[in-house]
Amino acid sequence: MELSYEIVELVPRFVFRTARNTSASSESVIVTISDGSLTGMGEAAPSRFYGEDTESVVAYLERMRPGVEHAAHESELMAILTSRGGTEDPAARASLEIAAHDMMGRRYHMPLYRHFDLDPSDMPHSTISIGLDSPKVMLEKAREVEGFPLLKIKLDSKIDLSIVERIKEATGASVTVDANCAWGPDEAIEKVAALAEIGVELVEQPVAADDIDGLRRVTESADVPVYADESCPTSAHLPRVADAVDGIVIKLMKCGGLLDAVRMATLARERGLGTMIGCMMESSLALTASAHIAPLMDYADLDGGFLLSNDPFDGMRIDRGRIVLPEGDGLGVRPAVGGA
Ligand SMILES: [Mg+2]
Repeated sequence: MELSYEIVELVPRFVFRTARNTSASSESVIVTISDGSLTGMGEAAPSRFYGEDTESVVAYLERMRPGVEHAAHESELMAILTSRGGTEDPAARASLEIAAHDMMGRRYHMPLYRHFDLDPSDMPHSTISIGLDSPKVMLEKAREVEGFPLLKIKLDSKIDLSIVERIKEATGASVTVDANCAWGPDEAIEKVAALAEIGVELVEQPVAADDIDGLRRVTESADVPVYADESCPTSAHLPRVADAVDGIVIKLMKCGGLLDAVRMATLARERGLGTMIGCMMESSLALTASAHIAPLMDYADLDGGFLLSNDPFDGMRIDRGRIVLPEGDGLGVRPAVGGA
């Protein structure tokens, strides 16, 4: 098979800030594999927090090139990816794994969700994230997405929690909050109690990624479900958080692809944990891959493309929170009309 890739710059409609990160733009690596008649596409949206950047993705793809070129069929590529295992280079691995799944769906003329035996009508609605900003701007952004039933509000240590109540009142939406590791355990216990009082639906990653004891303390004291995101990148990390939280956030770019994401969802369910499928700043290509397995999840946060001003692809859409999959085999994703 042939391997090619291209680095694309993704520009959000507005600067998006969380407690960990400010992004005016980000880069994705778009991967294409081809056997001469069939193609498959994937995407890596690398994150420095998980040890990756565009250069490391390109280095990974070049290390994998001989294996990809030697493979006659996408199933051989999947076997190579599975046999190598590990938790390094997750976004880079995800790009090839998504491309292999896309090609397989095209070969057997079926949309990806059907390969996983899922029903798109079981899909949860997607949240839309409101990034950190002044309370005035956050309220404006929340009003812009009026009609969405569930919003995710990004918080840090400094912001007054009353913004959550104001957004809830102004929009009538249910809200979840994401602290992105910002709070110490004692501070988190206090804040989560206040957020439960306000009536938030869940709280994501209140404390530092490696503070599992802190997570457990917050969860035990909380009257609202606590989910791990940064603390649980892959299925290999799930056992360490399983008794410390109520749910986990699953992202293809953290765990290395669709297979580990499905494994995480299955293990979580077996242990009575809730699940949310989330995203980085990604184009509709990787988002659509996530959307195909979203019927497995309790929550979806796949707003990355909705927040972009230059999405290079046409794929999943969000219609007032409802996730709409594209028609077609594999991912069903196409280059955006008019390009980007
Ligand atoms: Mg999160």
